[in-house]
Formats: sequence, C-alpha cells, structure tokens
Amino acid sequence: MQGNKITFNVNKKQDFREWYNEIIRKAELIDDRYNIKGLIVYRPRAMRVIKEIYKLLESELEKKGHEPVLFPLLIPEENFQKEAEHVEGFKAETFWVTMGGDEPLNEKLALRPTSETAFYYMYSLWIRGFSDLPLRLYQSVSVYRHETKATRPLIRGREFLWVEAHDAFASKEEALDQVRSDEEVTKRVLEDYLGLPVLFFRRPQWDKFKGAVDTYAADVIMPDGSCLQVASTHYLGENFSRAFNVVFTDKDGKRKFVHQTCYGPGVSRILAALISVHGDNSGLIFPFNVAPIQIVVVPIPGEGVAEYSKNILEKLKQFGFRAFLDDSEDTPGAKFYKWEFLGVPLRIEVGPIEVKEGKVTLADRLTKKKETVELSKLIEYVNNFSLSQVQRLRNRAKEDAEHFMAYASSVQEIKEKLKEGKKVFKVPFCSLELDGTNCAELIENETGLEVRGELLNDKKPTDEKCIVCGKPANCYVYIAEAY
Ligand SMILES: [Zn+2]
Repeated sequence: MQGNKITFNVNKKQDFREWYNEIIRKAELIDDRYNIKGLIVYRPRAMRVIKEIYKLLESELEKKGHEPVLFPLLIPEENFQKEAEHVEGFKAETFWVTMGGDEPLNEKLALRPTSETAFYYMYSLWIRGFSDLPLRLYQSVSVYRHETKATRPLIRGREFLWVEAHDAFASKEEALDQVRSDEEVTKRVLEDYLGLPVLFFRRPQWDKFKGAVDTYAADVIMPDGSCLQVASTHYLGENFSRAFNVVFTDKDGKRKFVHQTCYGPGVSRILAALISVHGDNSGLIFPFNVAPIQIVVVPIPGEGVAEYSKNILEKLKQFGFRAFLDDSEDTPGAKFYKWEFLGVPLRIEVGPIEVKEGKVTLADRLTKKKETVELSKLIEYVNNFSLSQVQRLRNRAKEDAEHFMAYASSVQEIKEKLKEGKKVFKVPFCSLELDGTNCAELIENETGLEVRGELLNDKKPTDEKCIVCGKPANCYVYIAEAY
C-alpha cells in the first residue's frame, strides 16, 4: 500500500462478486486463511465498524425495552429435542461437542446455531405471572452453523456475528406489535444510520424459520441484483412456550402459554451489505456513523502546516469525531489514494495556502468534490456533512436498487426482462400459505428466482391473477435471486 495506488482487477459493475472478493482482502477487513473452513478472522478495520453497528442495534433495542444478557454457548441436546420442527430444521447444521478431554460426554452439547432452546429453558423458570411480562432480552454473540453450501466471507460462513432478541408476551397482539417494532429497529439502523434501503417481507410459509408461525425478514438488494437477507424476526406463537412449558398466571387467574417472538439482525451480513452497496471502483465508502476513521487530515508540506494540521485534529477530536492526522512520509497523492480506498468519508487537506488564509479544503469521498471553507466554519461543516452523507448514500443505493426492479404479469415477461438486466420482480401471486408452494417451485424452475415474500403494509391485488396458476391473486410477492 505504501505510496502505490491500490487497484481492482475488475470493475464493480461488470463483476461485482469478484470485486467483493478483492476489496475485503485488499482493504484488510477480513482474512479467510484461518485453517478451519468457513471461519474467518475479523481484522481491526472490520471490527471497528462492527462495534459501531453493534452499538446502534443495541441502543435501538434498548430504547424499545430490551435488556442485555449473555447465555452459554453450549446447549444440551435435551433442550434441542423439545421443539420437533426446530430440531429437524437445524439438525444438519449443528456442530456438537461430544468429548471432554478423553472422555465422551454423557450428553451431546450443541454449539448454539441460534438460542431459542437456551433462552426458553430459562424463561420457563423466570416467568410466573403477568407482571413478569413482557420480557425482552437480547445478546450480542456469534453463532455456529455447519454450512455445507459454498461459504463466502461475511455472507455465508460457519460462524457469524449477530444480535438475537428473545421476547415473551401475554397476548398474540403484543407479539405481533413486536414484529412491527423489530421492523422499525431494522429500518432505523440500516436505512437511517447506514444508508442501506431494505425490503421488509413476510416470508412464504415454505421458507420460514423452523419452529415459527411466521417469519419476517429484511433483504438488501446487492449490486448484482441478488437479495441478501440481513435481519429476520419470527412470530413463534405458542410453539416454543408449549414445548418448554413457559406459562404465566394471567389477570383472570388462568394459566396461559406466553406468545413469543425472536429477532436476529446479522451483523456480519450487514457489514457485507455496507461494503458492497456503498463501495466503488476506488475502494470502500463507509457511512459517516460507523466509519473507523470519519475524517482524515492530510498535510501538504509547507510553512506552518504541521502545527495548523495538529490544531485541526485536536479540534475535531474535542467535538467527538473519529479523526486521524496522516503525517507519515508518503506523498500527499499517495495518502489521498490510500484513504480513498479505505473509505474515509471526509478528507481535509491543509497546505500553505490554507494556513495563510485561515481555511481548510474538504474532499467528499462519495462525490470526490472539494470545497474550501473558513477554519471557523469547520465544525459546522462536518456536522452538516455527517447528516447529509448518509442521506446521499441511501438515495444512491435506492436508485441503484430500483434499477433492478420491475413489475411482471407473466413468467414469460420475467424471462424477457431478465435479459434486459432486471433482477427483482413484483408479481401478483396466489398464496404465501403452503398451497402456493407449487407455483413458487414452477417460478424457480423456469427462472431460477425465489419468492422472497410480501412487503409488510403492501396493497393487496384487487382484480389480478397469480402469474402461474391463474387463480385470483391474494398478494403481490417479490421474486429474486437470493444469497
Ligand atoms: Zn398460483
């Protein structure tokens, strides 16, 4: 990296997946040379961003009444066996600990693939009466799944970072309200803070979380037009409370099973989406809110520059910005390229002219445009920039995503529009219940695309027919390729 411009072998628009493989390594975000397949090392530049993403998610969850907890990594097999669909769904993906030293363990212990069966075992001990409800707890941990599909760093691996929230309520209505609340948290963090537009779907019955009544999930449209699920929330009904005997005495004196939801925003995948959607052929572009370095100060040698630059750095730090002064031996040009590649949102250039005139020159990583302002206006400028940058990132991402989207009223039309570069289709569809399974399969066989689900709050079709079976359509679904 010293002094040399880092370049890509491919153009992001032409070969996004290869561009992604290059950037995560060249920017030293992760290292996948660790000698267990599917397990990667998160390097400092990635971990800095991840910690900021965690802070945002945790803070939004806590605003909505969640408390942090930490459950054990190991789950006894006995817990797993309690919910039949759940155990069936995760059987093939679970890592098991079977030995303690040289001795086989009496009971196999699962490396948590998700923690319903750990949390609800304890919920059955903790929840007694209606005053114990609602109960909203979350933990920020990694989970483990023995993926047999090809792994892809941050997107599909055998270990990934997430938050999991597990909530219990006295009524179904409160549980369903929680799904809305989880949608709000997802949109607030992803869209408002990270500039990543999401589509929030109710997933089809044939594609729900094993053990759930209904699954809702947020997809980000990636630069190749495929959907990446970055968060999901599940209405579990009484499925787990019956299995784990999580009961409470209600106000009417009756013993009832709690209604449950669980929510899992995937932090590794959110990072993958952020790198993918915002980056360009010059490198990363981090949203200001989570950038490891928000502002880099680059001195252009000359009289008084060194001291002037240090003062600027101090001032930025005083106001709480993550600022860095690059006073290394590299040329200014090499520094520009380096920090551009590493996605620092704002660069401040200080040369003898700026010193003389009491000004600073600011370069926006996103547009690469420069502007010179009075030093006294610097903090005001940065404050405005911190708000506008994420909005501009979000608008650009939305436009890019909309480019891939189209309406189609037949399978044939999907095939034609696929050739024109459309990738995400809104279509009238018969049913997201199990009776729609055959129509979804036909779409997949004919086009290679999956039914992702129905947008929450979307209008219902009034007089349209399912594009496959011709029966009256009862919803609009989105179909796309999925990671
Ligand atoms: Zn149909």
